[in-house]
Amino acid sequence: AAAGAPADVGGNDGLFTAAQGVLPGGVNSPVRAYGSVGGTPRFLVSARGPYVTDADGREYVDLVSSWGPAILGHAHPAVVDAVQQAAARGLSFGAPTPGETALAEEIRRRVLAAERVRLVSTGTEATMTAVRLARGITGRELIVKFAGCYHGHVDSLLAQAGSGVATLALPGSAGVTAAIAAETIVVPYNDLAAVEAAFAERGDRIAAVITEAAPANMGVVPPLPGFNAALSRIAREHGALLIQDEVLTGFRVGPGGWWGLEGRLEGWAPDLLTFGKVVGGGLPVAAIAGRAELMDHLAPSGPVYQAGTLSGNPVATAAGLATLQAADAGVYARLDAAATALSSQVSAAFTAAGVAHRVQHAGNLFSVMFGEAAAADGVRDYAGAQAQDTFRYAPFFHAMLDQGVSLPPSVFEAWFVSAAHDDAALDRIVAALPAATRAAAAA
Ligand code: PMP
Repeated sequence: AAAGAPADVGGNDGLFTAAQGVLPGGVNSPVRAYGSVGGTPRFLVSARGPYVTDADGREYVDLVSSWGPAILGHAHPAVVDAVQQAAARGLSFGAPTPGETALAEEIRRRVLAAERVRLVSTGTEATMTAVRLARGITGRELIVKFAGCYHGHVDSLLAQAGSGVATLALPGSAGVTAAIAAETIVVPYNDLAAVEAAFAERGDRIAAVITEAAPANMGVVPPLPGFNAALSRIAREHGALLIQDEVLTGFRVGPGGWWGLEGRLEGWAPDLLTFGKVVGGGLPVAAIAGRAELMDHLAPSGPVYQAGTLSGNPVATAAGLATLQAADAGVYARLDAAATALSSQVSAAFTAAGVAHRVQHAGNLFSVMFGEAAAADGVRDYAGAQAQDTFRYAPFFHAMLDQGVSLPPSVFEAWFVSAAHDDAALDRIVAALPAATRAAAAA
């Protein structure tokens, strides 16, 4: 076993057996268990730049990037240094710290509508709080969400959710009461007529529409041009709020997140935004942000309660701030270039192997949709994502893994490059594609 692996349980197989004896399913987050691709999950013991190393001592080019946070690559020296310095000053105080204000100011510098920021620890907390805030502000109870969008494991947002809920092919989750489920109206993504119909029917009871700024949890399904702007207009016309979930896209697809690529150019902004992942640089930080008059409804300035023992944790905020400070124009240019180069090579390899597919993009996020329908028309909603030839992904995934490339272990997830994915790392991925695309073709 590699250094760092507990000596008495050995490599990946032994670790997974031990983990299954103490953790439900052997993991602490479902998709990690390789359920839809099969096989033993790789237990990672270290990571640097674009590479991760497992407990058997094998190195992989990583296209998971911790599901988004690692935009600079793993263990970036400036981030590790900031964390070590912060840790040396103390791990958690439960009192205001200078770093929280600095991080919030950096968020506001990048996203105009983020006039006020509340820091929390996970994306789930951010969306949960945004929904509570919208209800508290409007005095209404209903929420509109889109099928295939994932907003964390908030009770009211698990209906027809993407990510692991999609991977496990679940309609929602056990344990969510019928009363809570009834407060969520689920509509097809990219379908403005369905949104209009929901508002026509119950508009005076809808507190908010929540949407992924650009969905990447049913595979990547970009918004049609004007879709987000129309959501903003429809919500406003009915006195409801638009919550744009940028947990995944925020500070990844560009310096101002998806809003910076779209709303900023079109001249509109969501009412509330949520951030996570990149904003913590690999440690637990997430945020709710929005106009001051809305955000000031949060306690202690307003009546909507929200709190957290570890909120704004000094070590975590140091990691987030160091990451955002390092994420300059050059980093975003590199992310975009790596995503463009890699995705076109992936598509060419599938074409060469005779696999009908389409690579879908949202900025530097992308994923592959399999099948004739996807190839011909693209996928614009969850029904389309579910209808693809999902069986082609597992053999492709394992052929890539065998050749030292770690992809997300589900067809319903985006591929994440980092600014550390240099030509050497990309060449290793590209070299693995012919055999892996042939394995997909043979499925
Ligand atoms: N919203 C979106 C768009 C996400 O992608 C995720 C996580 N993948 C979440 C919310 C939940 O974040 P967390 O896992 O930190 O709770």
